[in-house]
Formats: sequence, C-alpha cells, structure tokens
Amino acid sequence: MSKSLLGYVRWFVFDSKILNWSQVNKCILVLVFYLFIRALWISWKGFTLLTPEVQQFVNLETLYFHLNIEIVEFFFTLVVIFILLINREKEWAQHFFPYFCAVLLISSMVFDWYSSGLLEAGIVINAMSFIYLLIVLFDRKMLIFTLTYGIAVFIYFLSSGLVNGQVQFKPLFDIDQIGYPNFKNSFWLGSTIYFSAPPFLLGVFILNTILKQWSARESYVTQLSRKDGLTSIYNRRMLNEFLLQLDETEACDYPYAILLIDLDHFKSVNDTYGHLMGDRILVSSANTLKQIIRRSDVLGRYGGEEFLIIIENTHPYEVQRLAERCRSALASHRHAVDPMKSIFVTCSIGVAFSHASQSSLQVVNEADQALYEAKTRGRNQVSIA
Ligand code: GH3
Ligand code: MG
Ligand code: MG
Repeated sequence: MSKSLLGYVRWFVFDSKILNWSQVNKCILVLVFYLFIRALWISWKGFTLLTPEVQQFVNLETLYFHLNIEIVEFFFTLVVIFILLINREKEWAQHFFPYFCAVLLISSMVFDWYSSGLLEAGIVINAMSFIYLLIVLFDRKMLIFTLTYGIAVFIYFLSSGLVNGQVQFKPLFDIDQIGYPNFKNSFWLGSTIYFSAPPFLLGVFILNTILKQWSARESYVTQLSRKDGLTSIYNRRMLNEFLLQLDETEACDYPYAILLIDLDHFKSVNDTYGHLMGDRILVSSANTLKQIIRRSDVLGRYGGEEFLIIIENTHPYEVQRLAERCRSALASHRHAVDPMKSIFVTCSIGVAFSHASQSSLQVVNEADQALYEAKTRGRNQVSIA
C-alpha cells in the first residue's frame, strides 16, 4: 500500500487509460459506481429509521424490508466484484460479465424507480450517469442490450400490476403525507438533492476523466499516423498530403521548391557499422535538418535514407543557400561509431522549382533527376534541376 488515496486518484485521472481496460475491469468500475449509489440508499434509509420527525413521510415497514434487501444487495455486489477480480484475465469472463452486470444494475434501478416512484430527478440523474458510462465504456451491442432490457423490465412493471392497481406504486413513501406539489416538502426535496448531486458529480468526474483520456489517445494516434516512427519527422503519407495541398493552393510570389536529400553510400555505413548505427545516423541527420529549416518549411522522411523538404514562397537564391546549408551541416556532423572513432556521412541534394501547370509530383520527379545528377557528379553536392 505504497500509494495514498490521492495517488490513486492521480493515477486514475492521468495514467489509467480506462478505454484500454478489459471488459471485466470496466465492469468493476461501473459496479463501484453502483456500490456508491447503493451506499447512498442504505445511509438514507438508516437516517430515516433514526429520525422520528421524517418517519411520517415513509412506510416504515416497507423501508425496513427494503433496507434488508439493500444490505444483502450491497454485499452481493462486493462478492461479484471479488469474482470479477479473480476472473479478470479469463476470456469467457470478458463476454459474460458485461451482460451480467447490465442485468444486475438495470434490475436494481427499475426497482428503485418502482419503490420510490422516481424520486424524480434523483433516479433520472442516476440512470443518465449509468447510460453515459455505458456509452463510453462498452460497445454498441452491449448498449443496445442494456437499453432493451431496461425498457422491457420497465414496461413489464408498468403493465403488470402498476397499471391495473394490483401493485402499489412508490410503496416506500406515504404520498398523502408528503403532499402536493411534492417538492414543497423539505424531506422530499432534501432526499432528491441527496440522491442527485453526489452521483451526478461522481459520474461527471469519471466521464470527464474518460473523455480527457480519449482525446489524448486521439491526438497520440493522429501523431503516430503523421510521423515517421524512427526519426519523428513527417512520414511519406503526410508528405504526399502536403504535396497534394501544393497543387490546390494559389500561386505565391515565388515558385515553391522541393529538396530531395539522399545520404551517400549509406549501404556501406550499415554494412560496416551495423544497422543500429545506421538508424542513429538517420535520427541525428533528421534532427540536423530540423534545426536548419524554418517554421514554414516542411521536412519529412521520403524513403529509407531519403529526406524531402518543401519550401514555399522563398526566393530561389535563398532556397539554394538553404540547400547548401543542409549539405554542409550534414557533411560536417561527426557521428561517433565507437568511443575511439567518428565518421562523417555526406549527402547529395536535388532541388527543383515549380512551374505553372506542373503538378507537385512532377516537381518531385525533377528533384529526383537533379539528385541523380548530384550522385553521378561525385556526391556530397547540391544540384539544381
Ligand atoms: P548512394 O550514395 O548511391 O545513395 O548509395 P546508398 O548506399 O546510400 O544507396 P542504396 O540505395 O544502395 O542504399 C540505401 C541504404 O539505406 C540501404 C538500406 O539498408 C539503408 N536504409 C534504408 N532505410 C534504412 C533504415 O531505416 N535504417 C538503416 N539503418 N538503414 C536504412
Ligand atoms: Mg536512396
Ligand atoms: Mg543513399
């Protein structure tokens, strides 16, 4: 027990990754929420039994009977949570328990509704909090099952007994004593607030936590889909999207430029110093390029040891200088291959500028031809298409 309660809350909010939990763990979360509501009921009934002034508003016999059921229910739920904890890794448990919990919770909620006659806001807010939790935690099938089961039980109660008067509605309360409108009765109003506020706040807290984790996960996944896994600069897919955007944007004062940068003799670097060393050189080359380009330029990994830079609205002379800066920065970067030895890895760069009626892919093609020329002319140089 090294973590304090605050530590657990912190973990729950920031690190728990609730959406990735197994079905059984999600059930445990819902059951804990449910236990909280049951605890509210038990304390409320206990309070009523101990407070003579409010006993005129309830049917004491029914209340006492329900309290007994409730205490059994509370401990039964604890046992269920224990069984869930034991079986949390089992495959069958993932399929069985969500439905089991849904039936348990909905049955109990309809019983609350029947026994207290809605305690209007209280029951509605409890039900809403549950449904929100189910929506974000479980899948569509489970949600449809829960709602269908809930409505079926609800209708069954309505049609059997309640409507034809055989079963008394709101048996927990003495409705005549409470009077009409019921919210003018402070016991009723107080009870409604008591049953509404805490579950509402706890529900909002859990929901807010889940939604926050959800959006963090979303942006992480988006990030993953845009960035290259090794170098953390844009990947080929994103580069293609930027290139397509170029075809759609209006022409600027200057043509845009494409730089294709290919590391020289990289295969032999791999062969001599190992693939891992090659990876490290790729990462540090990407970082070097990142430091040279400006905020408005786009840098990505186009292929194995090839980088692509898109430069917009810049004088061709400036582009040429930037390309030269990239070349010399990469060429002068010292890579320590072991404690005693460093190597230098040069690069060749092809540059092409856009022309009217030319697609960005054609410009890339021209940059590729310029790159080929730089290679054939002896590498470690910039060639302009
Ligand atoms: P050139 O100067 O003509 O470009 O020669 P080169 O050896 O660089 O070119 P080649 O296309 O023959 O080889 C590219 C090498 O880049 C081969 C491949 O192993 C290496 N490479 C590609 N992707 C990666 C990677 O992710 N990590 C490592 N370590 N090496 C890679
Ligand atoms: Mg290459
Ligand atoms: Mg190469």
